[in-house]
Amino acid sequence: MNTGFYTNPIYLEHDTGSHPENANRLRAIQEKLESEGLLERLILQSGRSATSQEIKLLHSEKLISAVEAAAESGARTLHTPDCIISAQTFNAAAHAVGSVLDGVIEVAERRLDNAFCAVRPPGHHAENDSAMGFCFFNNIALAAEFLTREMGFKRVLIFDFDVHHGNGTQHFFEERADIFFASIHQDPRTSFPGTGFAHERGSGGGAGFTLNVPVPPGMGDEEYLQIFYDQVQPKLEEYKPDFVLVSAGFDAHRDDPLASLNLTERTFRELTRELKQLAEQYAGGRIMSLLEGGYDLNALSSCVQEHLLILHAED
Ligand SMILES: [Zn+2]
Repeated sequence: MNTGFYTNPIYLEHDTGSHPENANRLRAIQEKLESEGLLERLILQSGRSATSQEIKLLHSEKLISAVEAAAESGARTLHTPDCIISAQTFNAAAHAVGSVLDGVIEVAERRLDNAFCAVRPPGHHAENDSAMGFCFFNNIALAAEFLTREMGFKRVLIFDFDVHHGNGTQHFFEERADIFFASIHQDPRTSFPGTGFAHERGSGGGAGFTLNVPVPPGMGDEEYLQIFYDQVQPKLEEYKPDFVLVSAGFDAHRDDPLASLNLTERTFRELTRELKQLAEQYAGGRIMSLLEGGYDLNALSSCVQEHLLILHAED
């Protein structure tokens, strides 16, 4: 398969110091893929910066200006203490959005079979008007919005397997049926950001097009995959997505320092295989994933490698 791998040195310049969401995450991924000989088989893409107009597809002018101004002024954080900012944060965040938009266009028009975006800062906690949980602009939500608004897609699936609930992504789309948000995450009573209960199912015209499956701390591969096959997969099949987007956070791994699930590489391999098959069945193979969380460098790089091996495989 022609699998695009989007990354850019600008992402390393979003300097968060010793915070767990730091540039070493992308360095570890790149080193792993190089040492395993996988990187040279992928189609390397350096992406581009998004315009303010593109970021405004979902975010307020106020947030965009606030990120830009905070970066320029030498501020250390924006909105919450865990959103650390540095001189290049706005440029990195705008470039992350641009790469993701470039990726969906390339996959939509079949110049790439599929793609993975190794971008940072991550995005799924970012709301219309606020940065949150290490996130400034919601990369995946902007990709879904672009596909529906600008490219005519009618049923875009966002599957989020990050261990944390993608509150920002859900809030953008919970009243819509053209974008289906499905997430498995650690029980919100025990985990950031405290949303993503099973009763949050969308509203108005979007009722039934948000699916939240919280799971208790300590859950391992077997039980987690059973929940995916029993409670999630049938809903995804029923939706018949015409594009599959994946919020790929790898922090549900048992070695991750920020959460308490007990998964191994096996789960990420199986989820990737199932999502790729779903895309092949309904979406002409169109699937793109992008990095969200994952904070143990060995676990993260090994999970990304497994994820990419499946995306890249001819099947
Ligand atoms: Zn996370």
